[in-house]
Amino acid sequence: MSKRGIVIVISGPSGSGKGTVVKELRAICPTMQVSVSATTRQPREGEQNGVEYYFKTREEFEGLIERGEVLEYTQYNGNYYGTLKSEAERIISEGDDLILEIEVDGGGQIKRLMGRECVSIMLIAPSAAEQESRLRGRGTESEEVIQGRLARAKEEIKEAVNYDYIVVNESGKQTECAETILAIIKAEHCSSVRMSSYIAEYFE
Ligand code: 5GP
Repeated sequence: MSKRGIVIVISGPSGSGKGTVVKELRAICPTMQVSVSATTRQPREGEQNGVEYYFKTREEFEGLIERGEVLEYTQYNGNYYGTLKSEAERIISEGDDLILEIEVDGGGQIKRLMGRECVSIMLIAPSAAEQESRLRGRGTESEEVIQGRLARAKEEIKEAVNYDYIVVNESGKQTECAETILAIIKAEHCSSVRMSSYIAEYFE
């Protein structure tokens, strides 16, 4: 029986701990693939082209949009970010689950495009106060940048109700949080919508 991977959108505002949880998820489930996005933002120290992102110029990125090579894209903090169709199709056709770690605008685009084919999960900190303290905890950003991130995070959290699932990332419990996400993915594999082709082929 043919098996296709599920597309899992994971969004979460700054301070939700999304990056750490996704790393944890991959550690407990190594077949899970994370799509490498394209972006026009500058690489941070230690980031490599093709690993964290495919780093592009604005002209290159706009070429990708014009040729319809991105599944979704958005502008965030003045830079383009987008999911490459080639990257997503390669992973899904191999039967692996695909994680798109993207912000809410892109998450909404994927949901409209794929409907029940995709599972969307919003990760949030246990409270607004905890989220702010995590954001400030990095200690590397100016008050202006922090206020900008907090305002954006508030807007992102308002979108949570449009996601299929909302998962709270309790402090110091990243593994439990990743296990909860894995449980959601396992349950989604058994949903009647996804199992319908299995049933159709059952007596063939
Ligand atoms: P950062 O610059 O911190 O790596 O990412 C900024 C934001 O862009 C994060 O919320 C991240 O999840 C989101 N992001 C990364 N790749 C994509 C993408 O391909 N599409 C969209 N829509 N957002 C993305």
